[in-house]
Amino acid sequence: MRTLLSFFFSLICLMSAQVAASPENLILPKCQQEEVVETPITFFLSKEVKDDYSPYVREGMIQSWINRANQILKNSCVPMHRTLHQIVEVDELNLPEFESINVVHSMLEYYDPESIKEMTRKPNHYYGVIFSSKRSEALPPEHCGMTNNRVFPQFFTLDMACDKDTLEHELGHLAWAQHDIDTFSAQTEMTLDEVIETTPSHLKQFFKFYAFGYQCAGKGTIMSYADEVLPVYSSPEISYRGIPCGNKKFANNALRLREYVRHLRARLAVHSESVISHSEEKPPVTQ
Ligand SMILES: [Zn+2]
Repeated sequence: MRTLLSFFFSLICLMSAQVAASPENLILPKCQQEEVVETPITFFLSKEVKDDYSPYVREGMIQSWINRANQILKNSCVPMHRTLHQIVEVDELNLPEFESINVVHSMLEYYDPESIKEMTRKPNHYYGVIFSSKRSEALPPEHCGMTNNRVFPQFFTLDMACDKDTLEHELGHLAWAQHDIDTFSAQTEMTLDEVIETTPSHLKQFFKFYAFGYQCAGKGTIMSYADEVLPVYSSPEISYRGIPCGNKKFANNALRLREYVRHLRARLAVHSESVISHSEEKPPVTQ
């Protein structure tokens, strides 16, 4: 069983065995019109991915993850759009085994500090390191995807063998959407009050009691651990086979994501103002 300490350092996701449930009988709400926030994603490919997958195959897989993420966001009325910013090969990322996402981030930062600095300046930009399961069979399947949103709010790792839902699942963690409450309780071994108490004060605003995954008619929503998942975040406004896929009290990750979009929009406005003021500070060019 995972320890409390490991929970605080990373959110490891058991997603590789999941399959997508049929979307038939899925009833979606009518969405309110809101300005859409774009979230470009940079994928850093480890040496194993470069060796094991042709450019055509790996780019096709990454694009299918992004398409699926956008379908999940649209179905859940989240005004956010994922885009592929770039795919970067990093031969030095040669890590068939690793214990912690922090190690991966440190290596990436060592080899490409400028890119990391540039991306973390933009709050809507995400970046991840992709590994190849063909070389990492010694790893347990729960290492399929990882985040550590308390330390790296824009960073994730994924395995090429992850199913196409895992990208959005990891990005959901970065927006502070949690697993279903049973899985969350089993992983943290704490009450929700204890979780709040141990969350650093500047991050408490992101932890919400209603932001958990859910299951409806035997199918999971995107953040829940389930054999089959529907392409939606938990929400009381969505139903499957007549059963609500969330509730207001503890299973409304779609609301958490919409709130996160507003938070991003506000940060982007501050970011663009600061870019304008910096450019105005430049001395005039004289000839
Ligand atoms: Zn997870």
